[in-house]
Order: sequence, then structure tokens, then C-alpha cells
Amino acid sequence: MPATHAVTNQVPPLSEHNADNDFAADAALVEGLHRNGAGWAEDEVRALARLGGSERAQEWGRLANEHPPVLRTHDRYGNRIDEVEYHPVYHDLMTVAVEHGLHAAPWRDTRPGAHTARAARFYAWAQVEAGHGCPISMTYAVVPALRHNPELAARYEPLLAATVYDPGLRVPDTKLGLTAGMSMTEKQGGSDVRANTTRARPQPDGSYLLTGHKWFTSAPMCDLFLVLAQAPGGLSCFLLPRILPDGSRNRMLLQRLKDKLGNKSNASSEVEYDEAVAWLVGEEGHGVRTIIQMVNMTRLDCVIGGAAGMRLGVVQATHHAMHRKAFGDHLVDQPLMANVLADLAVESEAATTLAMRLAGATDRALAGDESEAAFRRLGLAASKYWVTKRASAHASEALECLGGNGYVEESGMPRLYRDAPLNSIWEGSGNVAALDVLRAMAAAGADVFMAELDAAAGADSRLDAAVADLRKRLAAGPDQATARRLVERMALTLQGSLLVRHGHPAVADAFCASRLDGDWGVAFGTLPSGVDTKAIIARVGLS
Ligand SMILES: Cc1cc2nc3c(=O)[nH]c(=O)nc-3n(C[C@H](O)[C@H](O)[C@H](O)COP(=O)(O)OP(=O)(O)OC[C@H]3O[C@@H](n4cnc5c(N)ncnc54)[C@H](O)[C@@H]3O)c2cc1C
Repeated sequence: MPATHAVTNQVPPLSEHNADNDFAADAALVEGLHRNGAGWAEDEVRALARLGGSERAQEWGRLANEHPPVLRTHDRYGNRIDEVEYHPVYHDLMTVAVEHGLHAAPWRDTRPGAHTARAARFYAWAQVEAGHGCPISMTYAVVPALRHNPELAARYEPLLAATVYDPGLRVPDTKLGLTAGMSMTEKQGGSDVRANTTRARPQPDGSYLLTGHKWFTSAPMCDLFLVLAQAPGGLSCFLLPRILPDGSRNRMLLQRLKDKLGNKSNASSEVEYDEAVAWLVGEEGHGVRTIIQMVNMTRLDCVIGGAAGMRLGVVQATHHAMHRKAFGDHLVDQPLMANVLADLAVESEAATTLAMRLAGATDRALAGDESEAAFRRLGLAASKYWVTKRASAHASEALECLGGNGYVEESGMPRLYRDAPLNSIWEGSGNVAALDVLRAMAAAGADVFMAELDAAAGADSRLDAAVADLRKRLAAGPDQATARRLVERMALTLQGSLLVRHGHPAVADAFCASRLDGDWGVAFGTLPSGVDTKAIIARVGLS
């Protein structure tokens, strides 16, 4: 049969070769890696990014989302099993993530920059598939909290940090590697965990029996969970294994899996605990103080994940515009599309630069640098609010750059769009993140944070003015009702300060003109004239 038409002007797929170039050309990532003391990891990050760009890995990402996990509450004989069945590619994704240490490498790697190196790898691999990042992040994050019970940490940390993905429910001590989750949110409220009703009854052998429910508990096939429950001494943190040391199943009953907007590859369950055995981590009554150490690590991954999504979006949008013609010219050469792409690229680069700075602060804080710890406390809270919030708007605009193709599943853009809001919701939703900034400032002030901004003083008058304005706002004192505005300005001035010092001049100029000086519209694609859109788009690094 003769063809009815020739297919023209369709965009070629991003080839594996391009994907490799893409990492090498992700200047904000590579520069951030070196600047934050982890240049030694460049080859590892590049190798993982290359694998991520391969057709095979891209296909894993697609399949894992098109075949979401299935809950099996009972076996064929009616016995409860409470297991979740995943498509095999989910395990492939997990295997790569664990083998590359995204789940825990820095806890056994003593090299300076280990958290930064891991952050860069997480960023590269998150662009393949975001959902399986949930148990990977939680496993990474559980370690500092678990150390509040040295005995449990000694027993499980080596297995959590092992680079072997060993799925399936078995006695944790008999496995080659473990994963961990967290179980805090209840029906009556997730932000205010003090309202938790799950009870913990102490037993003569030192363990506790937990009875109650959790409204969200993701990745329920993890081996271990940190769970909040009310003990006699108040809200407390517990380590709960899925399988008990005697091989029996702990009474963690999976009720349902959530039918979610996105994050399809990841199972998020509703759970009931029926006298489930758990061990105290930290002191009774110190539950929030203990589990917040886990939350503080997962918040870093929210920022990295937000930045990774933006990078994916801007790469896809730019690639499309470089190959698609409309009205006789490639889209990328048309001034208004160049404005949109440059605006998206500026947002992406600002997010990546910030994420790497925070990863570096994590390394230095954990090595005992108190100033970096103070910077991280405030900088991360503000960034968790801002970067994750920008991700949704960014994904929407990047999708539109592909026109109708961007609205079609095959492009991958709908998945990016559906996944985008999640990092803003969990680990402290927008308002809660903003209020956390006020709380952190009330406790320790903002001097260290402001010193970071001042490091760029005199380099750009627009940044100087924005920092002066921020000082005035801070002097006015805390006000819950306007907290989002304050936190937004904190995050923007921090991004501006980093870009002015370390970014490409065209990117820093566009950022200061639009985000700090206000010469900008509400939608993306409203950068002022005079901005060097060509240089900014070239910085995305596609050939
Ligand atoms: C896909 C997915 C997976 C999840 N996985 C897990 C998991 O594994 N473990 C777990 O424990 N939880 C998990 N969660 C739950 C998540 O952490 C909570 O949904 C989140 O913390 C918000 O709690 P909530 O849903 O009860 O909302 P609420 O606490 O009721 O908050 C509703 C809204 O009110 C705002 N708000 C709250 N307090 C204030 C205030 N004082 N002032 C102004 N505004 C306020 C919040 O920002 C939010 O926008 C998951 C959620 C999702 C969507």
C-alpha cells in the first residue's frame, strides 16, 4: 500500500548519545559538584546519567508507571500476607539506585563531599523515574534518626547502607540489604503529627505493641519503618520491622493502596497496626524531635527531585524546539519561544545550583561545621518551599513547548506534570514549610543565612536591593499570614546570590532582572528584552 503521506517535522528522540552529552553539558550540576567538594564523583555521576538516558532505562520508567503496584492482602487460602506486587522493571530501577548508593552511600563513604556526590547521582537518576525515589530517599534519610538507638543502628545500619537490593519480606537480619520507610500521617492530620492516636504499649522485654492506623505509608514493602505513636511518655518514634526476628509477619495490615494523581510506580498504602511489635528510637515523648532528623534528609531530596524534574522539562522542551519548525523556522529561533525556553532554563539552573549548595551544606554540617548546619537549617526550609512549588508551573510550561505532543503520554511530559506537585506536598506541605522557616528563625535567627547572601554584595545592584529589602521584611518580625512572601524572597535572594557568584553571567543577569528586580510577568516566557536568551539556551547544553 502506498503511504498516504510522508512524516516530516516530527522531533527525533533524544538519543543515548545526546543523553550523555546532556549530563556533561548540565553545567549547573557539574560545576555544583566540583564547587561543593565532590568533583571526584564526576565519572560515577556521568555513568549513571548515561545509563539513565539509555532506551532500556527509559523503558523501565515508562513500564513502572503504566503497570502500577498491586496490593495482595491475602493468599489463595485466605491467610493475610499484606504484600505489594510490582512490575519487574520497578525492581530493576531499585537495583540500579541501590547499587549506585543513592539509598545510603554517604553513611559508609567517609570522603568529603559524599552527600553531594550522592545528591548529583540522585538528581541524574530521578530524571529516569521519580516514583521509586521514595523508598530510596527514605532509606537514605532513616539513618540519622535511627542512630538515636545505638543498638538498633549497629544492627541495621550496615544492612541499610549495603549496596545490594534484596527485595521480599524476610527477617531483616538475614537479608543482604534493607530498605526503610516512614509512617506518620493519620486520618485526622498529617502536618500536625502531635494529633496522632496510634498507641504504643510497653512490654516487659523492652519492646512496644503498636495499635492504630496510618493514612499514608508509602513503599510498604520496605523492611523497616519509623512509626510515630503515643507511648505513656508522649508521642514517640519507633522502629517497626515487617518481619519479626522469629520469622512471623508483624501485624502491619495493608488496607488499601492510594489511587494517586501521579507517582504511579510507588505504592502508597493505608495501614492498620494491630499490636505490631516495635522498638523505641530516642526517648519516649521525643518522637517529633527524633523523626524530624529523617524528615530533614528527605526534604533535601524534595529539593533535588524538584530540580531534577525542571532539568528534564527544560531538556525536553529545548530539544523539541531545536528540531520542530513552525511558520518556516525552528521554534528555538523564534524570539517568543526563545524567551519561554530561556525563562525555563533560568529557573532550572537556579534550582540545580541551590540543590547542590544545600547538598554541600549537608556534607559540611555532618562533618561538624556549625555555621553550615545553621545555613542548611534555614536554607533548606526555604528551598523546600520554593523549588518544589516552582516545579509544577515549570512542568506545565515545558509540556506546552511540545504543543499537543506534550499532552500525549508517549512524550513522557504528562508523567513529569503529574509527579511535579508531590515534592511540595509531602515532608511538609507548602504552608507548613513556610511556617517552618519562621520557626527556625525564631529559634536561631537569620544571621548565617544573611551572611551567605552578603557574600555576593556589590556584584549586582539588583541583588543588593533585594537583599536590603529582605532585611527590612525580616526586621518587621514574623507574620504567619505573609510567611509565603517572606520565604519566597529568601529563596529568591539565595538563588540570586549563588547565581551572581557562580552562574553563567547571562543566567545571573536574567535571574536578577526578572526574579529580583521585578521586570517579569506572571507566566514563564516574560523575561525582559535585552536578556541574552541565546546564551541561556546554549547553556542547556543540547547540540
Ligand atoms: C503520594 C503520597 C505519599 C505519602 N507518603 C507518606 C508516607 O510514606 N508516610 C507518611 O507518614 N506520610 C506520607 N504522606 C502524607 C503526607 O506527608 C501528608 O499528606 C502531608 O504531610 C500533609 O498532611 P495532610 O495530608 O494530613 O494535610 P493537612 O495536615 O491536613 O494539611 C492540609 C493543608 O493545610 C496546610 N496547613 C497545615 N497546617 C497549617 C497551618 N498551621 N497554617 C496554614 N496552613 C496549614 C498544609 O500545608 C496543607 O496544604 C504521603 C502523601 C502523599 C500524597
